[in-house]
Amino acid sequence: MKELSRIASAVQASTTLALDALYKEMKARGIDVIGFAAGEPDFPTPDYIKYAGIAGIVNDQTKYTPAVGTLELRRAICYRLREDMGLEYAPANIVVSSGAKHCLYVALRALINPGDEVIIPTPAWVTYTEMVKMVGGIPVTIPATEAEQFKLTPEKLEAAINDNSKVLMLNNPSNPTGMLYSREELEAIAAVCVKHDLYIISDEIYYGLLYDGRTFTSMAALGEEVRERTILINGVSKSYAMTGWRIGYIAADQRITSVIAKYLSHSTGNASAPAQAASMAAVYLPQDTVESMRRAFEERRNYMVERMNSIPGVSCLKPEGAFYVMMNITKLLGKTLYGRVIRNADDFADVFLEKGLVCVVPCTGFGDSNFVRWSYAASMKDITRGLDRLEKFLREAGV
Ligand code: PMP
Ligand code: GLU
Repeated sequence: MKELSRIASAVQASTTLALDALYKEMKARGIDVIGFAAGEPDFPTPDYIKYAGIAGIVNDQTKYTPAVGTLELRRAICYRLREDMGLEYAPANIVVSSGAKHCLYVALRALINPGDEVIIPTPAWVTYTEMVKMVGGIPVTIPATEAEQFKLTPEKLEAAINDNSKVLMLNNPSNPTGMLYSREELEAIAAVCVKHDLYIISDEIYYGLLYDGRTFTSMAALGEEVRERTILINGVSKSYAMTGWRIGYIAADQRITSVIAKYLSHSTGNASAPAQAASMAAVYLPQDTVESMRRAFEERRNYMVERMNSIPGVSCLKPEGAFYVMMNITKLLGKTLYGRVIRNADDFADVFLEKGLVCVVPCTGFGDSNFVRWSYAASMKDITRGLDRLEKFLREAGV
């Protein structure tokens, strides 16, 4: 038989989703494993949002919607962007699709011609590089170290740019690093993008989850020159505990959203209508439950970071947003734990799962194999037990 698509065949499966599936399978087999792999809030979707979804079904919001999403939801998204970020968008600037993941995909589809380069500061979410390859682009990564707070600098960005550079893909605050770019840092990065005529895909899905009283600046809020080249990505998954509803959105110049709209009209058609009804309640109604979940994440982060930094052999920075901790395992490299030489994060995550019964994600796919990622979107009870297990696992291995 003729070969399958070379582009599709070369795609690496998502490690975050694969590990979450492995964890769920182990649990179903009755194994007492604790999971910190998937970046998915452990809270249920708030009741008023669930009821809005049910009402949507009962009131026959069960038909096709416009490919870009219902006008009501797009209006409500404009309201949320104005309230939270001071951004003025019209419904024509908004496109709703099936999760922020799909929004990123269609945004790249609208921007990339074969061979265009997409600059990705790493560590970055595992999906970015694969997705760029899926649309025929070339991912160009710019690594940042822990000492650099895992952040891109304008100098490094400038040095990576050539005639093929087309897009900067920036996630703020970041999965997996938890670091937040300040307004000044964003302005310096955006100035380089304007100078070299780069588009900016600004993935702001974790903007509602910031700690220690920090405030958020959207890339699109940095003036007209920046905004017209910014494709803002957001969604309801993280802030509203709605991962399974699959609703994300894009805010961008109409020149871009109209191309995306055509693409959607021939691919997904539209995102689920009842999920759009639920998402409308999420973004339009008062945001008190978002705040109570954020506070819970902050408490969990504080506990996790303090505990981790008290355990010999590992350490971490204190994340400023999102719900991930990057645990530095450099001190364990070259050591033998439970009969296995630890060469990198993958070795560590394997042994920790098998012998420690804790599931974490090696950051190899994120761009740094000296770290593993813990999600603290897990219950305090699980976080406490997971860190007890880490302590015992390392102590009994003689670390
Ligand atoms: N961007 C980042 C950085 C993420 O971590 C995620 C989590 N899956 C997404 C986008 C996509 O979220 P969703 O598709 O659930 O809206
Ligand atoms: N973004 C989350 C994570 O990084 C969810 C899983 C995924 O889609 O990758 O774990």
